[in-house]
Amino acid sequence: MSVCALCSSSENVTVYEVLPARSFTREVTLCQTCQDQITHTSALQPEYWHFLADAMWSEEPAVQALAWRMLNRLKAESWAADLLDMLYLDDELLAWARAAGDEDEPSPVTVHKDSLGNVLNHGDAVVLTKTLDVKGSSINARIGTVVKNIRLVEDNSDQIEGKIDGQLIVILTKYLKKQNGQ
Ligand SMILES: [Zn+2]
Repeated sequence: MSVCALCSSSENVTVYEVLPARSFTREVTLCQTCQDQITHTSALQPEYWHFLADAMWSEEPAVQALAWRMLNRLKAESWAADLLDMLYLDDELLAWARAAGDEDEPSPVTVHKDSLGNVLNHGDAVVLTKTLDVKGSSINARIGTVVKNIRLVEDNSDQIEGKIDGQLIVILTKYLKKQNGQ
């Protein structure tokens, strides 16, 4: 008889494949309740997952990876954060665990805003509200310069990238405003 590799329940157990494909054994037996929360099919119930305190010590890489992913999603709970501190994965396994990309839930949304608070998007045109001193270059980044087709810098809502005089530079959002008519 097989039981869930995480919570040890024997109800509704099926084989779950831990993705993405890596050199580890990916198949692990899990109950439906665990699977539904792992796959975001049902809402995460933090109090349900206390069994990770035991499951995370499994010898199976797939179970360790899943435990790491779930503890990350639960780390707002102090008990989960404590367990995560104790859970050591080697580099290869950690890379696999991270590969799901859902360890941070909810994921912080980076919103870029111009100096007036308008939300900026990829491809917007902006106007410089300050003459910028671009170090080590002769770029003419005077106030009023229009920068078209900007790119938002990921993970840093204070920065965008745009071309001035044909050169791509990073510009602080506080020194620009969205061009009217967009
Ligand atoms: Zn389970």
